[in-house]
Amino acid sequence: MDIIVQKYGGSSLSDTEKIKFVARRIVETKKKGYKVVVVVSAMGKTTDNLINLAKKINPSLPERELDLLLSTGEMVSVALLCMAIETLGEEAEGFPGYFAGIKTDNFHTKARIQRINPGKIMQELDKDKIVVVAGFQGISSENAITTLGRGGSDLTAIAIAAAIKAKLCEIYTDVEGVFTADPNRVKEARLIKEISYDELLEMASTGAKVMQSRAVEFAKKYKVPFVVKPTFNKKGEGTMVKEMEVKEGADVSSVSIDENQAKITIFRIPDKPGVAAEIFTALGKENINVDMIIQNVSKQHYADVSFTVNINELDKAFELSKKVGEKLGAENIEKDTDICKISIIGVGMMNHPGVAGRMFSALAKVGVNIEMISTSEIKISCIVKKEDGEKALKQVHKEFIENNI
Ligand code: ASP
Ligand code: MG
Repeated sequence: MDIIVQKYGGSSLSDTEKIKFVARRIVETKKKGYKVVVVVSAMGKTTDNLINLAKKINPSLPERELDLLLSTGEMVSVALLCMAIETLGEEAEGFPGYFAGIKTDNFHTKARIQRINPGKIMQELDKDKIVVVAGFQGISSENAITTLGRGGSDLTAIAIAAAIKAKLCEIYTDVEGVFTADPNRVKEARLIKEISYDELLEMASTGAKVMQSRAVEFAKKYKVPFVVKPTFNKKGEGTMVKEMEVKEGADVSSVSIDENQAKITIFRIPDKPGVAAEIFTALGKENINVDMIIQNVSKQHYADVSFTVNINELDKAFELSKKVGEKLGAENIEKDTDICKISIIGVGMMNHPGVAGRMFSALAKVGVNIEMISTSEIKISCIVKKEDGEKALKQVHKEFIENNI
């Protein structure tokens, strides 16, 4: 008998009616002849609420205790869902992460899964039960409860699917699947039927929040095929995510906008070996993720360097840049939050020359100036003024998706 892993997110379990609905979907899947393992998130906004509660008690948020607290959210979902399944005449077995054999390292609040011992899960499946596992949690080598980073139930589901060799992992959510652009911003956005792991990873890194990136990385590494599907639309087929061959024809599969970017510029620093190393080593040491970097053509052995960081890290990055910049004798250091990043993504880009030119022309057509550019094999990103973001996004979507039937 084939095994299916189903993961239900917080918005699919946010009240008792939804939990009952989900229980019916699970039982229907079992009746189709599958063994079913279910992974759940905490109900609705539970995790955020628990974090706020903890902040009121101890603002320094001690991580070990925080993990203990947050893990309770998923446990509530497990217990209620098992009860709901039992009212439908099926037997359910609920597991906290540690019972499900999810062993992690000791990094509280962002632990990594090291191995999974799926013995107990398999035992219960063999007894014809439906197994319900608390997502987002595991157990460390010090026997403490750990959590896997926000959105970590996705990772639990993918990792269990890999460990028990499930036929498919279904990620159920409150949207129809993965779209060519955020449908709340671009009304012409279309549902994508199939997408590769790499494209989905790039989408996450360019501001489109679909799934936890670590879960997608794990799926790619262990070749776990999965589908992102709507919980409440039973006809919705969602988006299949798997390793894909480069297709002829389509060059760009999605476009996105990231408004959480900020730019730092260090003006007039010496153009000589070691200078860039000094700046970016300092940022790296503080764990600051730098996205795009440009250095202009040097004039009289001096150059300006600009780079972008996530807005949450701007203050820290700016302080550090000031320190290093002053040491290097920089003329000035500036920060700019009035920017956003527009990206196009597609594996088809690799063998379609001219994609960059088409993107820049599309932006020029609506009078949008490009401040920075970066490219990879399957992505092109441009930094533009924040106020231009919306029209840039729409125009690029029109160029690559709507005009490309
Ligand atoms: N409940 C956790 C969170 O909100 C894990 C998850 O939703 O996947 O981050
Ligand atoms: Mg979630």
